[in-house]
Amino acid sequence: MTQQAGQLTAEVISIGDELTSGARLDTNAQWLSRRLGELGIEVAYHSTVGDTLNDNIEVFRIAAGRVDIIVSTGGLGPTRDDLTREALSAVVQRPMHMDESAMQHIEQIFASRKREMPERNRVQAMFPAGSQQIFNPQGTAPGIDMVVPGTRVETSRIFALPGVPAEMKRMFDETVAQRIIESKGAATEIKHHVMKFFGTGESDMENRLGEMISRGREPRVGITVSTATISLRITAMGQSDAQCQEQIDQTRAEILERVPQFYFGEGDKFEQHDAINAELVSRGQTLMVVEYGRAAPLGNWFSKLGDSPAYQGGLSFANSNQLCRMFGGKDELESLKLLKRKCKLDWLLIIDSYPELDDDALLPQPASEIRLLVISPADKALVQTQTLGGHPDVLQPRIAKAGMAWLREMLAENTE
Ligand code: AMP
Ligand code: MG
Repeated sequence: MTQQAGQLTAEVISIGDELTSGARLDTNAQWLSRRLGELGIEVAYHSTVGDTLNDNIEVFRIAAGRVDIIVSTGGLGPTRDDLTREALSAVVQRPMHMDESAMQHIEQIFASRKREMPERNRVQAMFPAGSQQIFNPQGTAPGIDMVVPGTRVETSRIFALPGVPAEMKRMFDETVAQRIIESKGAATEIKHHVMKFFGTGESDMENRLGEMISRGREPRVGITVSTATISLRITAMGQSDAQCQEQIDQTRAEILERVPQFYFGEGDKFEQHDAINAELVSRGQTLMVVEYGRAAPLGNWFSKLGDSPAYQGGLSFANSNQLCRMFGGKDELESLKLLKRKCKLDWLLIIDSYPELDDDALLPQPASEIRLLVISPADKALVQTQTLGGHPDVLQPRIAKAGMAWLREMLAENTE
């Protein structure tokens, strides 16, 4: 492995019999590796080990010999198979002591849950001498931050976190990331910003962004895809919040210059239906969605908006005949216009149609023609046909998202 001077390396250690037995997928290692990458840390190894003391000691010893930063998850619970504390104490050959503030926090957690604290939970306030706590705001298991002598590296720093994904994520973002960048020396602040895109594939996006997503770039831009929605996550590090923000603004503008056509919004949780809702609310207009084919992902997503003045509801039919029958046998377009009038709607979005997936549909589905139809406030029928197929798990959401992209395009063109 070639390394830049000053480039820190890391190892992620995942601990638990449920991982080595295959009962549970190790998602922590994936998440942590992305985060470490964003901090400019090269993740050189992933190790997975069961709940056996000697194996744990060995894995930590090996890691301490070869990387600068070790992040482990799991084994910090109160039960006898949780051995990370003991393993760390053996690695540094120092005894464990009770930390009063950690003990108080654990007692408080039990008090707030109105439960008696079992005696065995006291062990969660035990730390190897010379280590620091990593505060866990959500649970009873604090993390352990500890420096150990290395062999190939001078010293190695271990951050041991609990296995519960929600707890370890918050502890990494709130405490560990900050300690890592401080140990790197230069930067003291870190700031993230997420931009969302739809309408092209990951590799096309990578091509268009070119060197912007290369590993060495600062601020770093990471790309992830979730059922055809692309997220770009900018991570800026600097001396102050303002300095980070300046880097983010600059990178954001550069990204928008390169891929404006696919962009729809900002923020980790922001989706196309949020973008559509925001646009309609600002115009004071309303929307209903009509989905054919015994699936209703749009109705499901839009319903999560809660009490929106724009979204008036969704209808789901096996096919368009069912809709026409409801309107006394008029043709589809007339039926849709009638629906629009009766419900006082400005826009309709119709998906025609989701392929039916039976329980045996495990293989990629053959591509079929999907008609995406938007009825504008002036009753214009705006049609786009797309040929879509793919894995059954993602095909229906993919079709629904294509429909939303078409509606966004029509909204941009029709400012009536
Ligand atoms: P532990 O801290 O070892 O008691 O783990 C608590 C729970 O977190 C386990 O029961 C697992 O369900 C989950 N967990 C532990 N490690 C991982 C991991 N690497 N990836 C995903 N989930 C995990
Ligand atoms: Mg465990």
